[in-house]
Amino acid sequence: MTERESTEPSVFTRILRGEIPGEILLQTDDAFVLRDIAPKAPVHLLVVPRTDAYRDVTELAAGDPRLLAHLVEVARTAAAQAGLDSFRLIFNTGLGAGQTVFHVHGHVLGDPAGSLDEDSMTAGMPGEGRDS
Ligand code: 5GP
Repeated sequence: MTERESTEPSVFTRILRGEIPGEILLQTDDAFVLRDIAPKAPVHLLVVPRTDAYRDVTELAAGDPRLLAHLVEVARTAAAQAGLDSFRLIFNTGLGAGQTVFHVHGHVLGDPAGSLDEDSMTAGMPGEGRDS
């Protein structure tokens, strides 16, 4: 069963509750930032709303655009704290795009030591663990 079909709390909710381990770097009243367990870039963070009411960014944009704007602001703050001047913010949307956790989240990807690979959707580690 995928997370899309499940009525169980998402993996991110379980981390937030302390039920499973996870490195939470930052919290606000409405959102939190996790370090991704399988990084695709030197810095790979996940920006997640506390609510799991929205499965993807299209639902969030329609249902609570202020919360989406807050996630973008939290992404900027977390990126700066991680030493990133620039970063890539990605919302995988749907199974076909590689979304695996259906609790909306943004990926913050970057490299404090260098610049991003323009040809890649990740930051210097294209394709790792996805299609090989
Ligand atoms: P998606 O594929 O849905 O866009 O992104 C889900 C992300 O969650 C993946 O990058 C994956 O590595 C990350 N992830 C899945 N399970 C865990 C976990 O238990 N802990 C952390 N920190 N990240 C996870």
